[in-house]
Amino acid sequence: MADSEPATGSSGEAAGEDLEPRHVSELRLQQAMGYLDAPTRELFGFFRAPRRTITVCFPVRMDDGSVRSFEAHRVVHNRVLGPGKGGIRYHPEVTVEEVRFLAALMTWKCALIDVPFGGAKGGVACDTKHMSAQEVARMTRRFITELGDNIGPHTDIPAPDLYTDEQTMAWIYDTYDTLHPGRNNRPVVTGKPLDLGGSAGRHEATALGVLYATQRLLATGLVPGLESTQGATVAIQGFGDVGAVAARLFQEAGAVVVAVSDSAGGIYSPQGIDLAGARAHKQAHGTVVGLPETLSVTNEALLELDCDILIPAAVANQIHAGNAERVQARLVVEAANGPVTPAADDALGRRDVVVLPDILANAGGVTVSYFEWVQNNENEQWDLAEVNAKLKTKMHRAVDATLARWHLLFETPPESEQADAGTESDPPPVDLRTAALVVAIERLARVTQELGLWP
Ligand code: NAD
Repeated sequence: MADSEPATGSSGEAAGEDLEPRHVSELRLQQAMGYLDAPTRELFGFFRAPRRTITVCFPVRMDDGSVRSFEAHRVVHNRVLGPGKGGIRYHPEVTVEEVRFLAALMTWKCALIDVPFGGAKGGVACDTKHMSAQEVARMTRRFITELGDNIGPHTDIPAPDLYTDEQTMAWIYDTYDTLHPGRNNRPVVTGKPLDLGGSAGRHEATALGVLYATQRLLATGLVPGLESTQGATVAIQGFGDVGAVAARLFQEAGAVVVAVSDSAGGIYSPQGIDLAGARAHKQAHGTVVGLPETLSVTNEALLELDCDILIPAAVANQIHAGNAERVQARLVVEAANGPVTPAADDALGRRDVVVLPDILANAGGVTVSYFEWVQNNENEQWDLAEVNAKLKTKMHRAVDATLARWHLLFETPPESEQADAGTESDPPPVDLRTAALVVAIERLARVTQELGLWP
């Protein structure tokens, strides 16, 4: 678990953008729907609303003998493709609206990466930075008990997210297993420790998926002058499970990681950061800031550094109406969920800055979660090479499907935009986010129609 920080940034709101999660979610869904046929558009109401929202409030005894109440949520957005799947985050600013937004993202992500799961998400409003491990354990066990049969190996399957980790998943498994004895309960949660049925490669999966997706995209030539990660300069915001691993993997793939950051700030070195040194410094001092032979930068300044690839891997709404014009990178890879706001999408698109969207870029985590679930159901354990080869195939297919759809969308703007063509209000060119959403929604709509609307 990392140190505490806001789950959603507020700078975009300061710049006058409406960043209400529900509005952002609906806006993007509507943009994608504009490219879809009438039967699919009829499903807009079904896709925009979560299928189920559970909010619970429960008391926990703290180490000092006092009692504290916690509010927690678990949302299943859609189950057309299979059981709900999505992380549980612990953060003081968790709200039911944010959890709903993230659950919808999981629906699109699972459909796009083609795993048989629906979208779900959970969150507890808490500040784990100021709680002991035992307090976090008691809170986790009580939350899972409150959820009861609303989670399960074939109904809704949690995973790690912000400030939850393998240990949290072990507590979740143990609590559920105690309540449901006598059967194989390992597939109830993914991201478990290896010796509890976790998958080889799960810890690195999100970051490795980010690398595979980036390399596949660059190889197509979509970003002129940047055909591979070899020699590319990379700045990464966030140095947690995703950001720190991505930094190492991109460096191993020949990139020069010029900046990294955590919630306390960032460090910059045009020659490349000593990443082992940064990890050791964070271990010793709680932050990467202060690593010798680096310059200190703020998290805001990091986003505007001169680099080829910018990877926001921390929290939402970091690139927004107020700073998108100053982003210098040619490619923005959304390792975090929702780091680029709708206004920033427009501004970047108009400047030909490519955004590899979250539902594609960070889908490696849920992909290997799916592999973990399959292994648990079969009582098998695959080796790392097998996991990573399967992950690469999934990521490449999803990038290819998105690009193929993007080329088609590019040639055929939606009817509403054809009317505007040639005017000053020309919309920005269609982006990869819309194309990825279109692929996901088409899959969901097809399966919804196959299942039939009944009675
Ligand atoms: P984590 O808790 O391990 O790490 C978060 C990192 O971000 C920490 O280094 C923290 O210090 C830093 N940070 C926090 N606020 C910051 C700020 N304002 N500016 C810069 N850095 C800040 O979390 P994680 O698992 O690495 O997840 C990071 C993001 O990736 C989240 O958006 C999460 O939803 C998304 N994600 C994670 C996974 C996964 O498998 N872990 C999968 C998909 C998406």
